Amino acid sequence: MTILVTGGAGYIGSHTCVELLQSGYEIIVLDNFSNSKPKSLKRVSEITGKSFKTYQIDLVNRNKLEDVFSQNKITAVIHFAGLKAVGESVQIPLEYYHNNLTGTINLCEMMRKYEVKKLVFSSSATVYGSTGDLPIAENSRLGATNPYGRTKLMIEEILRDLYESDHNWSIALLRYFNPIGAHSSGLIGEDPKGIPNNLMPFISQVAVGKLECLNIYGNDYSTKDGTGIRDYIHVVDLAIGHIRALENLENNNGIEAFNLGTGTGYSVLDLVNAFEKATGESIPYVMKERRPGDAAVCFADPTKAMEQLGFKATRSIEMMCEDTWRWQKTNPNGYTGNLELNRKDQATVL
Ligand code: NAD
Ligand code: UDP
Repeated sequence: MTILVTGGAGYIGSHTCVELLQSGYEIIVLDNFSNSKPKSLKRVSEITGKSFKTYQIDLVNRNKLEDVFSQNKITAVIHFAGLKAVGESVQIPLEYYHNNLTGTINLCEMMRKYEVKKLVFSSSATVYGSTGDLPIAENSRLGATNPYGRTKLMIEEILRDLYESDHNWSIALLRYFNPIGAHSSGLIGEDPKGIPNNLMPFISQVAVGKLECLNIYGNDYSTKDGTGIRDYIHVVDLAIGHIRALENLENNNGIEAFNLGTGTGYSVLDLVNAFEKATGESIPYVMKERRPGDAAVCFADPTKAMEQLGFKATRSIEMMCEDTWRWQKTNPNGYTGNLELNRKDQATVL
């Protein structure tokens, strides 16, 4: 079985490529490298000892996209490719709608044309907007609060319409909570551009000395220590969730949304303490005003994924911190670092 992985060079995509290859799938990666580096794919080859085709293509470019489908026999698609920065999406909404919506529509058109009707889509817990439900189940009220979130919500709706038009489609909408951590090899991990917006990459860059001090946004929420609570999930668990979703698509037509989270919430201070304990590094921080638009508490009800996909996240918060630190410490500048050894390039970059 050959799986096309769009956005496969990115943070979650690269970890999922490893799990796919180790589970015996063939993969083809498509990425425009707008937010990633080909080096992540070389590292995927290195971890797995397997090679695979890579296309440097923008999903918005229909003609080039068709080459991928006409040149390969694809069984299913895992669709990670998209822009994902909430703040940036407020600044340049048209670019977000164009990239994420047009890219997805082009992909689905090509899938329809080449009779590839199995799709796993990267959605997000952001589609729950400001639902008051806790834990958050898949049938909670939906409503995004920024352009990025609206692209996810709109794509979910487009995919529902697509399924209504043709019941031969099998589609999984995976709503991720907060992926953190890295592969245990330390070879692949999160490599954000510029100053990170998300908590874990910020913490690890403070630990490695690239940033001075963590700003904690809000200590007056009605939580146990006043800081915001999130459901952090190890990126390798998340990657394995995609394999379970793919297996489920093999036997079931339909369109279903699944939360991928642990069901446990940790506060900002919990994560700082866990990181300090796991790594022996100290993380200086200062308390700041709340970040506009942030929810106080957000964690998943993971029951549906457990019951229908047989998926349960097993990696602990300690492991998430240890693995992040291994990656950060050995790659202080991410994939652009000069610590790169002379490695054999096993991926075919077309
Ligand atoms: P990422 O930016 O690391 O990976 C996305 C990849 O898609 C990048 O390699 C980028 O170069 C590529 N890409 C973007 N637009 C493209 C286009 N038009 N054509 C081809 N390639 C394109 O992000 P990630 O953290 O790995 O996230 C993967 C997916 O999961 C995204 O859709 C994101 O919105 C979603 N998601 C991420 C998180 C998170 O916290 N990381 C949470 C919820 C949902
Ligand atoms: N956060 C913080 N400092 C930072 C980044 C994030 O205090 O530099 C807090 C944020 O307010 C939230 C939690 O950490 O309570 C997780 O934030 P992140 O951006 O990682 O995830 P999201 O809010 O998108 O779920």
